[in-house]
Amino acid sequence: MKKLALHWQILLGMALGVVFALIMSQFDFGKQFVSDWIKPFGNIFINALKLIAVPLILASLIKGVSDLKDISKLSQMGGRTIGIYLITTVIAVSIGLAVVNIVQPGKTISEQTRNELMENYKGDADSRISQAEKQREAGPLQALEDLVPSNIFKAASDNGNMLQVIFFAIFFGIGLILIPEAQSQPVKAFFDGFNEVILKLIDLIMLAAPYGVFALLAALVVEAPSADLFKALGMYAISVLIGLALMMAVYATIVYIFTKKTPKFFFNGIAPAQLLGFSTSSSAATLPVTMERVEDHLGVEEEVTSFVLPIGATINMDGTSLYQAVAAVFIAQAFGMDLSFAAQLGIIATATLASIGSAAVPGAGMVMLVIVLAQAGIPEAGLALIFAVDRPLDMCRTTVNITGDAAVSMVVAKSVGKLGDPKVEE
Ligand code: ASP
Repeated sequence: MKKLALHWQILLGMALGVVFALIMSQFDFGKQFVSDWIKPFGNIFINALKLIAVPLILASLIKGVSDLKDISKLSQMGGRTIGIYLITTVIAVSIGLAVVNIVQPGKTISEQTRNELMENYKGDADSRISQAEKQREAGPLQALEDLVPSNIFKAASDNGNMLQVIFFAIFFGIGLILIPEAQSQPVKAFFDGFNEVILKLIDLIMLAAPYGVFALLAALVVEAPSADLFKALGMYAISVLIGLALMMAVYATIVYIFTKKTPKFFFNGIAPAQLLGFSTSSSAATLPVTMERVEDHLGVEEEVTSFVLPIGATINMDGTSLYQAVAAVFIAQAFGMDLSFAAQLGIIATATLASIGSAAVPGAGMVMLVIVLAQAGIPEAGLALIFAVDRPLDMCRTTVNITGDAAVSMVVAKSVGKLGDPKVEE
């Protein structure tokens, strides 16, 4: 029997996880059982992926940068990568604004529902608002200051900072280019081998993917809030989803125009990473798989993936920026505020920056949304309105975030002559 393709295995795992949770919810002990005996396996799976992310970035970026052999190539690729990432983010926010202005989901929410939501989710909203406090107090050059770690182990630790690890790896790679070949050779050979080991570990972890997503989805479903809330917030959720779907079409078009690769090729290649992004709600946890898929199945050479994808996972969050634009205008509409054209232009700028600043972990986009709301003069307490449906939307926007990184890496690869045939045919 022909083995089922990986994305079908993962989809099957997800579907069975949902069905299992629905059945378990019928029993009194069901919820507890899933929390105690199923959810930990999902957490183990996410931990394993995250465990791989830091060593992977270090090894592959050091190898990738030193393979470029030439610092001008690095700055050329860096400039293009950041430029294209910014363009896709601005497109995403603009799509979000267009959709939310056309659908006007905030107008469909009754005053009673609004008050109920404000009351029920006040605590959750307050905790996000206080989390955003630190970022808001930061000075204009804080982001730059944060880029340079004072201690690499701290940067690579659990609450560390991926951009700092990326900075260190690029800096180290530049050092390797600048020293004589005889000395750099053994170090490069070491990181080459190290990189191969990490790639093998990803293969091993992926064997568990269908079971991991089963556990993740089962835990999410038993913990989901009641369906009534989804109904009340339906138009808002639909607006975000329409925007995200349009963004997927934008990626397929960009990839086709610049690389002549068909949407089928692109989506087939990236599907397992998308599904993991959906199940984990974390671009960072998905990064190892995104890198593996883009390299082996989309034909982007490692010099490009090692550079473009870790940076993308951290700063390029098109789904998040789109969601922030829709959510901000939705909250304003629900409070009966009319946002001027200038205020909406301001949202393009702040949502772009807020998405860059969002960490690649579940729920981060909502914390940074506080900043968008504050800038536009929309009541921050309005966060309570969208809380109930945030997790499912987080799953969807993370999928878009990952797809955007993959699309941009193909375009950058093509522009520097590093797009070849996939190593593995589907
Ligand atoms: N969960 C998203 C990600 O990791 C960030 C967000 O909350 O929007 O890409």
